[in-house]
Amino acid sequence: MFGAIEAGGTKFVCGVGTGPDDLKAIRIPTTSPEATVEEAVAFFSAQGPLRAVGIGSFGPVDLRSGHITSTPKLGWQGYNFAGVIGKALGVPIGFDTDVNASALGEARWGAAQGLSDFLYLTVGTGIGGGAVVNGRLLHGLVHAEMGHIRIPHDRERDPFPGCCPYHGDCLEGLACGPAMEARWGCTPRELPAAHPAWALEAHYLALALNNWICTLSPQRIIVGGGVMDGGQLFGMVREELGRLLSGYTCAGDVVGPGLGHKAGVLGALVLAEMAT
Ligand code: ZN
Repeated sequence: MFGAIEAGGTKFVCGVGTGPDDLKAIRIPTTSPEATVEEAVAFFSAQGPLRAVGIGSFGPVDLRSGHITSTPKLGWQGYNFAGVIGKALGVPIGFDTDVNASALGEARWGAAQGLSDFLYLTVGTGIGGGAVVNGRLLHGLVHAEMGHIRIPHDRERDPFPGCCPYHGDCLEGLACGPAMEARWGCTPRELPAAHPAWALEAHYLALALNNWICTLSPQRIIVGGGVMDGGQLFGMVREELGRLLSGYTCAGDVVGPGLGHKAGVLGALVLAEMAT
């Protein structure tokens, strides 16, 4: 049996098991590192012996040392996440970003089975992406920060300055859930289907997908996260993407996650397995 943590900015999902049909999971609100990790360790300790624990973490993170690095989240900056969990439970730790973990989960059990090149993107409280290239997770110098790419911002069509504390109008600053809420005065969930917010959101996401299609040529792009819930964005994004690409190159399909909201915690199980 493996342990898994999907560590998000607002909640931790901790689970034990071996796969989608064998997963026991709980949610813990993300507060201080000490309190949150103590609750997670208590959960794992009560589950019997584990072979390893996988952590898919919010970032930015240092994948080599297992630390959280420059997060604006108070108390988590510089936190030795993998080290503390590993020491408390005495097992090997697999550590990667939350979106890379989700990509692994989708590759094993979800919408990316059998694919060598794909992208997993989440559009929610933030925006992040994990890429599998030639059958392997793309890591690079640190790890990708796909939410913070720059995309064209027409300030006449959209005067909203963006909400990224680092860059203002990067992709995340323009198109994450909190950006929609700040621009329109209500949450994405509250926006009616006919609201112009959705066409603008589809435009921004399609611009980003256009860039990744042209740089990575993925066979498929899986898009999860709270902003995509409800499904009406998918058709609009595909249509806008077709317009932007103008038939120049072949693009893989754009789909929702096969594992729904469980991609992250299940992917963390794969990370645990890889750590043994
Ligand atoms: Zn940014």
